Amino acid sequence: MGEGRWIEVGDGVLVRRYAELDLSVGLVVGARRCLVVDTRGGAAQGAELAAAVRTVTPLPWSVALTHAHFDHSFGTAAFLPCDVWAHPGCRAALADDGPGDRRRWAQRYRAEGKPAIAADLEGTEIVLPGRLVGGHAELALGGRTVVLAHAGPAHTGHDLLVHVPDAGVTFAGDLVEHAPGGSFTTESFGPDSSLATWPAALDDLLALGGRVIVPGHGEPVDAAFVAAQREPLARLAQLRERVEEGGLTREEALARSPFPADVTEAALEPHR
Ligand SMILES: [Zn+2]
Repeated sequence: MGEGRWIEVGDGVLVRRYAELDLSVGLVVGARRCLVVDTRGGAAQGAELAAAVRTVTPLPWSVALTHAHFDHSFGTAAFLPCDVWAHPGCRAALADDGPGDRRRWAQRYRAEGKPAIAADLEGTEIVLPGRLVGGHAELALGGRTVVLAHAGPAHTGHDLLVHVPDAGVTFAGDLVEHAPGGSFTTESFGPDSSLATWPAALDDLLALGGRVIVPGHGEPVDAAFVAAQREPLARLAQLRERVEEGGLTREEALARSPFPADVTEAALEPHR
């Protein structure tokens, strides 16, 4: 399933990096409890992460899910029984779309010649979060408090930020895109994304004041990276709005877009 490696980005705040999908998950260690941020993409992947957490700390854990996409949330069963925190929309998406996502991604991995990952997915139990936070919640881990915050629709309608104020670290899930070049891809603008409100969600993220921001994929970044990413995203949102109002053709929007044509096309799809 691929070995991960821990990076310490703050005192007792760790990021675990994986080659598969360039995924980043998190661990926040308090004096009495720890919090696991995202659980990877299947039963065996989740079990690997749970064992890796146990090499860092023996403390009881809770889980927080940044969003319902399989690569962030399908490893949760390995951590049960425990509190699983997420936005209500994450629970709904896992219940409604989880089985279909599991089937589709298993097919995709099989087609890509990765049968072990496909089989892990097919044998995965999708766990529905039981502790729901629609706006803002604080979790006491002993000696430190972690803030869970929904910044409005962006990558999905239910993105949850996990902020560690004392360490200045924010786990952003896929709200911050970190494909090669630090930009967006066609995958960024899935059917459950919301381009119009995404720049404002990044403002909310920046307002938390994190020194280190951990994207759901790729290496940790800083606030300047997120601020720089916000600008072309806001331009793309404006272009889309003008196309929808009839003030601009798709061709004109493509020509003016700060993103490559395929990314712009994905963002201009009518369902978003
Ligand atoms: Zn995602």
